[in-house]
Amino acid sequence: MENLYDVVVIGGGPFGIASVVEAKKAGFKNVLLLEKGDNHSQTIRKFYKDGKRVDKVYKGLESETRGCVEFFDGTKESTLNYFDKLLDDGDIEAVFNAEVESVKKDGDLLIVTTAKGVFKAKNVMVGIGRMGKPNKPEYKIPPSLIQVVNYNLNNCNCGEKIIVVGGGNSAAEYAVDLSGCNDVTLNYRRSTFTRLNDINLAAVEDSARDGKLTLKLGVDITGIENDNGKVSVSYSDGSVVIYDRIIYAIGGSTPVDFLQKCGIELDSDTKPIVDENLQTNVKGLYVGGDIASKNGASIVSALNDAHKIINYIINKA
Ligand SMILES: Cc1cc2nc3c(=O)[nH]c(=O)nc-3n(C[C@H](O)[C@H](O)[C@H](O)COP(=O)(O)OP(=O)(O)OC[C@H]3O[C@@H](n4cnc5c(N)ncnc54)[C@H](O)[C@@H]3O)c2cc1C
Repeated sequence: MENLYDVVVIGGGPFGIASVVEAKKAGFKNVLLLEKGDNHSQTIRKFYKDGKRVDKVYKGLESETRGCVEFFDGTKESTLNYFDKLLDDGDIEAVFNAEVESVKKDGDLLIVTTAKGVFKAKNVMVGIGRMGKPNKPEYKIPPSLIQVVNYNLNNCNCGEKIIVVGGGNSAAEYAVDLSGCNDVTLNYRRSTFTRLNDINLAAVEDSARDGKLTLKLGVDITGIENDNGKVSVSYSDGSVVIYDRIIYAIGGSTPVDFLQKCGIELDSDTKPIVDENLQTNVKGLYVGGDIASKNGASIVSALNDAHKIINYIINKA
């Protein structure tokens, strides 16, 4: 049958890359990777700043890889090069600019529909991450501020007054990086950082001590307005401060619409319901990486999810 694959993997992030590599190494011949972007690893490309340190131990999650894809501390660039090499050496068939619209069951097979064609598969693994939809605050963002309300550092310039919002490692790294040539405030609604790794915590404290970074902790933002093209930020302590730019680094959300379109059942936290092998209620359809975890995961946990699923599929084959 034309276009019949043993395994189709949706999403070319760490989970997707490890999935296709593991599948090939396990002996599957017809394996396909479908990625929405024009290259693999869109989360890393869009949300990691250039030169970012990439930590193997992240958010205190599991740090040992269990499958055949290893991982190492490095930088954004070394990580992307490493994933390039894995795809090249694994002789992986990948289609880019192939956003998957849906996966539907057809007898024992799954039908994967993309703008680039329809593919049939015995097994489908979904690893589309959570950063396709970065989290936004609950208050309204004036459309006129679209250029200066950002979710990564791609539009930042030097010499700006910037507020970074968030209490996780991404927010800390963004704030410290920007503080090199900007007037930066890091705002977190809690009064202490509880989710930072040691390196980021030390970097934030050092930058604050050196006067390069202002910390505004234990205060929430109640709203933002346009003040002559700048961002006027109102805080819960009654203060109002004007910034050139605001950057939200508050994570991403589960792509609920996509998962529901595939018939995947979700729990009350909109997390896909899976069994111990990460198989969903749709037989042959698996999820892994960030979308399989409640609050996002790490590269190592994505690689381990891929290993777990392929190990299960090969043993049941
Ligand atoms: C700023 C930042 C810093 C981080 N730093 C670290 C770190 O130092 N160490 C660490 O271990 N982790 C880090 N993480 C977390 C890590 O990046 C994620 O846990 C990891 O990328 C998850 O991999 P994934 O494959 O599940 O999803 P993703 O990496 O998000 O990949 C999903 C892929 O699916 C594609 N896609 C989406 N929708 C579709 C569709 N419909 N059809 C086809 N393709 C689709 C996307 O384009 C993307 O390429 C960081 C995260 C952020 C945001």
